[in-house]
Amino acid sequence: MSGATSYAGVAMEFGGRVLREESMARHTSWHVGGPADLFFTPRDAADLAVFIRQLPQDIPLLWIGLGSNLLVRDGGIRGAVVALHGALGHLERVSATRIHAEAGVPCARIARQCVQWGLGPAEFLAGIPGTLGGALAMNAGAWGEETWKHVIEVDVLDRLGLRHTRKPAEYQIGYRRVCGPANEWFVAARLEFERKPAADDQALRELLERRRQTQPIGEWSCGSVFTNPPGDHTARLIESAGLKGFRIGEASVSEKHANFIINHGAARARDIEALMMHVQRKVNQIHGIVLQPEVRIVGVAA
Ligand SMILES: Cc1cc2nc3c(=O)[nH]c(=O)nc-3n(C[C@H](O)[C@H](O)[C@H](O)COP(=O)(O)OP(=O)(O)OC[C@H]3O[C@@H](n4cnc5c(N)ncnc54)[C@H](O)[C@@H]3O)c2cc1C
Repeated sequence: MSGATSYAGVAMEFGGRVLREESMARHTSWHVGGPADLFFTPRDAADLAVFIRQLPQDIPLLWIGLGSNLLVRDGGIRGAVVALHGALGHLERVSATRIHAEAGVPCARIARQCVQWGLGPAEFLAGIPGTLGGALAMNAGAWGEETWKHVIEVDVLDRLGLRHTRKPAEYQIGYRRVCGPANEWFVAARLEFERKPAADDQALRELLERRRQTQPIGEWSCGSVFTNPPGDHTARLIESAGLKGFRIGEASVSEKHANFIINHGAARARDIEALMMHVQRKVNQIHGIVLQPEVRIVGVAA
């Protein structure tokens, strides 16, 4: 247990299932991050609601999916992490064009299943290595598509463990940005996709292959580190600032795609954060543009 927060109030029934001091490096695609005080993977949505309800109100919560857009600092997370990957995995078709999916379902599974159901436009989700919950929180997108273009309604849990259904009109939605009622988290969504065949297998393979050629897929990263400024590409700005390959400790700007930062194995979050700040400073000096992080930086420094 760390800091001043007391976790004695966590109900006995959850005692054995709540991990203590769980390394967040095991749950992020950058493979960095210190320990979370508490780490909980629910059995299902009802179990999750009970857990939230009994958790003392002064314990902060961080919900995560696949950790593919998260920089957790080396000192870790004070409070409780709720991990939906491997839980809340229900996916069904509810009408000719609509699906219901829980927040822990990986985007790639939604894409695969929807293509089989004839809902081809869902295939953009194949390129996003996260969960639906993360895609809703980030308005994740690829190939000109975005998650919230397809949302009919979402189910959320609040800090009291109560479930609400909300419409897109209740959120401000932008490019990789979603802002809605505070202290609520996504547990499921209904999405709509046109009934239309997906690009044929060959076309999809070519899109994924182009990604593999232009992005360091398979290396430890979190995808694009910064959002693109209006009318420009961050990768171009970073590359023309001469930063490809620039390294701090075991972290470097990718040679393949300058908006990716790679952990070569033993990077610390502080190396990655220092590299991000260096890139921001240099790009601002050279191009007069302040890059905005797309990745979510959480936790405390070591
Ligand atoms: C190789 C690679 C390629 C990528 N390509 C793309 C791309 O093409 N397009 C794109 O948009 N992104 C891309 N990403 C980034 C990332 O995959 C997306 O942002 C994804 O949506 C994150 O989902 P996640 O489940 O991993 O979320 P996490 O990283 O676990 O969390 C991200 C944020 O969402 C919040 N969150 C997670 N789950 C919930 C929930 N249930 N309720 C409320 N908040 C929640 C977290 O607290 C955090 O703030 C890429 C990443 C990698 C590693």
